Amino acid sequence: DPVLRLSGIEKFYNRGKPNEVQVLRGAELDVKRGEVVALVAPSGAGKSTLLHIAGLLDTADAGEVAIAGEVLGGKSDRRRTIVRRQEVGFVYQFHHLLPEFTALENITLPQLANGVPPKEATARARDLLASVELEGRAAHRPAAMSGGEQQRVAFCRAMANAPKLLLADEPTGNLDPTTSDRVFGALMTLVRETGLSALIATHNLELAGRMDRQVELREGQLVPL
Ligand code: ADP
Ligand code: ADP
Repeated sequence: DPVLRLSGIEKFYNRGKPNEVQVLRGAELDVKRGEVVALVAPSGAGKSTLLHIAGLLDTADAGEVAIAGEVLGGKSDRRRTIVRRQEVGFVYQFHHLLPEFTALENITLPQLANGVPPKEATARARDLLASVELEGRAAHRPAAMSGGEQQRVAFCRAMANAPKLLLADEPTGNLDPTTSDRVFGALMTLVRETGLSALIATHNLELAGRMDRQVELREGQLVPL
């Protein structure tokens, strides 16, 4: 089974109203185990909508989402929440780290919420920080770190619960080109080391070219780029 399968996904906003828009029109995608797929889309094309549906944060009006072979369309909210917390990691353009907690705590907390014992959670958080060369920032709060450092901590947090699937929405979009390039490299290293599958939205065609495969969201469908 692919790690992520989207079949026939349709999504409307304001359905049945005069301002109805159909954002997704039968989107199809398989992300295989260990595969990193670039999602390229102009602003407004529906990339965030697609990522939210793939990550079980939103529901489609038609079609099926399956994660690791489990079809989650018709499942209870409870099951979708469990799968989202255990199997999906999210990274956004802005890091969304908790400002009052340190880098280490930001990576430890999601593990504690999943029932990982504190010692184990802390050890894993330290390993993750080391893998993005931030062992020296463990005790720093987000405000005391650079944009690139904050974003690398956000990657570690997304990986904290060892998800099967990483979904990223312009993960280096708010960084200058040089930092973006380096931070993207750190993300790819982390993804490759863990054998994670990923769907990464980007406007940057150079970064997209460094992924295994590129798909474009065009008129509500996913087409090879
Ligand atoms: P992208 O991430 O590619 O910029 P989005 O998925 O955010 O695109 O949005 C796709 C389209 O759907 C846009 O035209 C947007 O205005 C519209 N849209 C997004 N969310 C809503 C919403 N909650 N209600 C109505 N329209 C929405
Ligand atoms: P919930 O509070 O619905 O149980 P969690 O706190 O378990 O969700 O969140 C799981 C993941 O989904 C986290 O990475 C979180 O950042 C992300 N997330 C939760 N709600 C949203 C949302 N409305 N928009 C974007 N991401 C979200």
